Amino acid sequence: MYKIMTAGPVQVRENVLAARSIPCTNPDQDVEFYEFYKETCDLFSEALHTESRAIIMGGEGILGLEAACASLTEPGDRVLVIDNGIFGKGFADFVKIYGGEPVLYTTDYKNPVDPAGLEAYLEKDSDFRYATLVHCDTPSGVINDIPALTNILDKFGILSVVDSVAGMFGQPLDCAKSKIDILCGGSQKALSAPPGLTMVWVSQRAFDFMEHRKTPIASFYANIMTFKDYYENKWFPYTMPISDITGLRQALDNFMADDSVYDRHAKIAAATRYALVKGGLSLYLESGYSNTVTVLEVPEGITDKEILEGMMQDYNIMISGCFDVLAGKVIRIGHMGENANAEDVAATLAALQGTLEKHGIKVACDLAKEFKNTYENGAA
Ligand SMILES: *Cc1c(COP(=O)(O)O)cnc(C)c1O
Repeated sequence: MYKIMTAGPVQVRENVLAARSIPCTNPDQDVEFYEFYKETCDLFSEALHTESRAIIMGGEGILGLEAACASLTEPGDRVLVIDNGIFGKGFADFVKIYGGEPVLYTTDYKNPVDPAGLEAYLEKDSDFRYATLVHCDTPSGVINDIPALTNILDKFGILSVVDSVAGMFGQPLDCAKSKIDILCGGSQKALSAPPGLTMVWVSQRAFDFMEHRKTPIASFYANIMTFKDYYENKWFPYTMPISDITGLRQALDNFMADDSVYDRHAKIAAATRYALVKGGLSLYLESGYSNTVTVLEVPEGITDKEILEGMMQDYNIMISGCFDVLAGKVIRIGHMGENANAEDVAATLAALQGTLEKHGIKVACDLAKEFKNTYENGAA
């Protein structure tokens, strides 16, 4: 077994694994399951302090992104795809599949989207049905200012779809100050359940919009409206993956019981960056660093593959490489959810240092020691 310090999935706590193995009922017929499901959804809204209604869908995080686009896109609709990262740009594919016309608003991948820049762009062209944007774009680790950006979109009458799969439950997201119509999350990132479930939070405005579409939603599995009246009708569109959901609920209970989650993520992330920079390594971003993942450039003289394989073989620790335009250029340490603890991050940094040094690459300080010092006492 590797210690998975990847950018998601992350480590899963014992009590979540145990919750997944409790005896199952028939979730279609057992009224108690409808109560449990609804209570869990309500708790998800409470956890993010939002009025939006949470829905748990059976499918990995990508399902939420596709479901948002399937449910909001009508053929011929122009959709603004805010692209300052690989996941950001990826929304264009879902828009196209459902007959929409994606219009890319592309900005520099090394920094967050500048709200003033978006506003200036919309002054010239704001004829969009909705816009898509990403909270934490995991391949680069960049964090976007969701309250500022969604309020600007709202000012121009544009609905918003926000992917916070790799942000929520690790990186604070102020839903009350934002104008999010469909918020997308997944089980396997900071919430620290195994992969397999999507959560979406849907605003009343989005429900009204879907209700009054001119054309039917061109999907069944990705149609958010199929869940609208499940509780009143005691009818799910498909049999819910009950064991995944009991595990998810335990992970949510774990989050709710720990009031230091956000603070710990911020401290771990800051100490990780401090140690890496002091060691002479280069962070990929110039600004907008996430609390959930740290992305660093692959140093000269070694490949991403050599780092990942070396850390697995010699230390049993798995971190992430990257894909698309960042393939081979960066490696990523996921310090979200269960991974956000000082011991595991220190072990990961020690393994990274050992692997780099084995390939003759000099590191200017003891990464693990510098990390721990900074974590405990703040940056020098
Ligand atoms: C992980 C993630 C998803 C879900 O995608 P998978 O790569 O299939 O797990 C969606 N959006 C973001 C930003 C993610 O980090």
